[in-house]
Amino acid sequence: MSDSNSHAISASAPNHPEARYAGNHLVIDKTEWVPGKHPDPHRRREGQTEYLERYLRCIECGVEVLSERDLPVECGGSR
Ligand SMILES: [Zn+2]
Repeated sequence: MSDSNSHAISASAPNHPEARYAGNHLVIDKTEWVPGKHPDPHRRREGQTEYLERYLRCIECGVEVLSERDLPVECGGSR
């Protein structure tokens, strides 16, 4: 089989191309390396010193949550 063309990524939107509405918030997916072992035993590895945590950040009010369910109802950044 041939290689996949993984380089063919086009970002046309200038700001936050992956932002989407979640309730009143406009959120983007974020990932961050966190020191320590993953809290989920199924994703924990032997000798792990850091893990990649996924979370959501609202670009309007700046709130950061692990799940959309954790978002406050009101978006403090909306005008
Ligand atoms: Zn918000």
